[in-house]
Amino acid sequence: MTELLKDKTILIMGIANRWSIAWGIAECCAREGASLIVTYQNERSRDAVKQLCSALPKAALYPCDVSSDDEISQLFDFIQKDHDVLHGVAHCLAFAKGEELAGNYYNTSRDGYLLAQNISSYSLAAIAKGARPLMSQGGSILTLSYLGGERAVPNYNVMGVAKAALEASVRYLANDLGPEGIRVNTISAGPIKTVSAKGVKNFSSVLSIYEEKAPLRKTVNQQDIGDTAVFLFSDLSRGITGEIIHVDAGYHIVG
Ligand code: NAD
Repeated sequence: MTELLKDKTILIMGIANRWSIAWGIAECCAREGASLIVTYQNERSRDAVKQLCSALPKAALYPCDVSSDDEISQLFDFIQKDHDVLHGVAHCLAFAKGEELAGNYYNTSRDGYLLAQNISSYSLAAIAKGARPLMSQGGSILTLSYLGGERAVPNYNVMGVAKAALEASVRYLANDLGPEGIRVNTISAGPIKTVSAKGVKNFSSVLSIYEEKAPLRKTVNQQDIGDTAVFLFSDLSRGITGEIIHVDAGYHIVG
């Protein structure tokens, strides 16, 4: 263990189960000595997240459904009470209606569009606002995106538009928070089999396209994203903000 994150406290949002990318990030940050604060979305996910986190040496658990302003402000009240300072936030969550992740984008409903934007994009700004007063020593915020935010990827549809907004939010937040020493970056992950990903029609065929065409001829996994998150939370990345780092075996340069 190199302890790159020793003495850092990091908030991880978006663990649902052991396949979640957020769980890969949590494991890698714990390996590097970070103290973790983990959120779960609701009572349904609480027990599974609690059980997973019992394997981590230092992890505190709080509820937070990001569709609720009250739950977001309650989360940061809890954190302020129980922890002195926050150094990092991993925003690893998104949601869209299953029926809108197939077929033509023009069939997106107004409420489906607003729902995807609300959960998947707006929430980053709300979380950054809540985290800011606690990042008194500077900090690093990261979120997860996908190539469908930059290109028209079949079936990704409304989520691609939400990811485009998320990536733009990262640039605006990086500019707002940079003077306070808070960096904001995106990891654009290649496809990984998770519960959310399986909601996108024909997701499995995307995995084989990456194995065939990506320069590294493979797909990435949760640990590949987790190790990049460690880099972004560590002082090694101190000169990087407002960036999109593709962790996708190089697919974005050829696909
Ligand atoms: P996942 O299903 O394991 O995680 C999604 C998380 O979002 C869950 O923990 C869920 O509880 C949370 N969430 C949804 N609505 C919420 C709400 N209202 N409040 C709080 N939390 C809420 O899937 P994942 O693939 O690990 O997704 C994590 C992130 O990675 C998402 O932003 C996703 O778009 C992104 N991503 C995934 C892939 C992939 O192929 N799996 C690729 C690139 C980016």
